[in-house]
Order: sequence, then C-alpha cells, then structure tokens
Amino acid sequence: MTKKEKRDHVLARLDELYGTEKEGFYHNADWQLLAAIMLSAQSTDKQVDEALPGLFGRFHTAKEVAEADVEEIESYIRSVGLYKNKAKNLKKCCEQIWKEYGGKVPDTLEEVLKLAGVGRKTGTLFLADAYGTPGVTVDTHVFRISHRLGWAKGKNPVETEAELMKALPVDHWNRINFQLIYLGRSVCTARRARCEECPLAEWCEKKLERKS
Ligand code: SF4
Repeated sequence: MTKKEKRDHVLARLDELYGTEKEGFYHNADWQLLAAIMLSAQSTDKQVDEALPGLFGRFHTAKEVAEADVEEIESYIRSVGLYKNKAKNLKKCCEQIWKEYGGKVPDTLEEVLKLAGVGRKTGTLFLADAYGTPGVTVDTHVFRISHRLGWAKGKNPVETEAELMKALPVDHWNRINFQLIYLGRSVCTARRARCEECPLAEWCEKKLERKS
C-alpha cells in the first residue's frame, strides 16, 4: 500500500469515527467565538462551557469588555485555567478589536496574531471556525499523532503545520485538529499509544515499526 493510500484510509476512518464537523462553542458574535477559543487553552471544553453563558450574558460587544474592569471579567471566567491572565488579555484584545477594527475581528492570520493573547493555534482555529479559512492547527495531540502516523517529522509545531499542509488534502485541514484530539485523549495518548485497540493501526507507521 502506498503512503497516500494509507493516509486516505486514515482520513476516511477519522471521518467515520468522529464526523466532519466539530461542535462549536456557544457564541453570538465573532469576538465571542475568539474569546471562547482563547479561554479553551489549557482548559477543558466543560470548563469553558460553564463560563460562556455568564460572560456573554453580561458582555454583548467587544467595547463592553474593553471598558470593563479586569476584576469583573475575571469573575465570569474563574472556571477556566489561567483565568487572571486570560481576563487581562481578553480586555486588551477587545480594546484592539474595538478601536482598531471597528468591533469586528480581522479575517487574516497576520492581523489576528496581532491581538493580545492570540497565538498561532488560537488564530488558526478561530479563522477556521469563523470564516472557514483552511488551516492546520497543531496542538500537542496533532503534533504527537501526526509523527506517530508517519505524516510529519518536524521538530516544532510550525514545521509540522507546513508538513501537514503538504501531506493532507485541503478539505481535511480544519477537521484534522478535533479528530486527532479525540483520538489523542482516548487511544493514542501521550503516556501510551494503545495500538492494540487503535482503529488506525493497520495504516500507522509507529504500529508497523513495532511489528518489524
Ligand atoms: S496505531 Fe498506535 S501509534 Fe498509531 S495512531 Fe494508533 S495508537 Fe497511535
């Protein structure tokens, strides 16, 4: 079987297992979606879901967040990790959205990355969810599993992102992140690759190496 055939089997299996659409965070405006993705770093989806109704019930526009006290923003997001830092970033980021972009989050990676608290991972995910912009988001799960599958060799997320953009068809870029997160939380975990129960085993380089 060629490398491309193996990759296509893996992609089809991931679509079957986890679907092609991710369940997104609750939001009514683009700045709220960006805020939800920022809050999700180093936090579980459950922690973020707990915080959002209160936060977005109080703040309807980026201007309202920009004008609020950091302590008040903190009070709505205590359920998420690093909430003090995130509250500060959220205020600053909303100030930028309000003053520099008229209340609308910009739609290019270059500009989104200028916003406070927005790194490459958050920016790529936001653009994919908000505007359908194709992009591969390399988090710890995507990095680890793409190396184990034999799709990437890059030493860091940026190199791996470039390799995956070459290795994968563009219509899979946006969904590969959540699909590999699901696999990485259950089967191909950081502590142990459970190859014996993995639905991708017959097409995986690491599994094949172990056999040889
Ligand atoms: S076969 Fe093993 S290494 Fe490969 S993806 Fe599955 S669990 Fe991970």
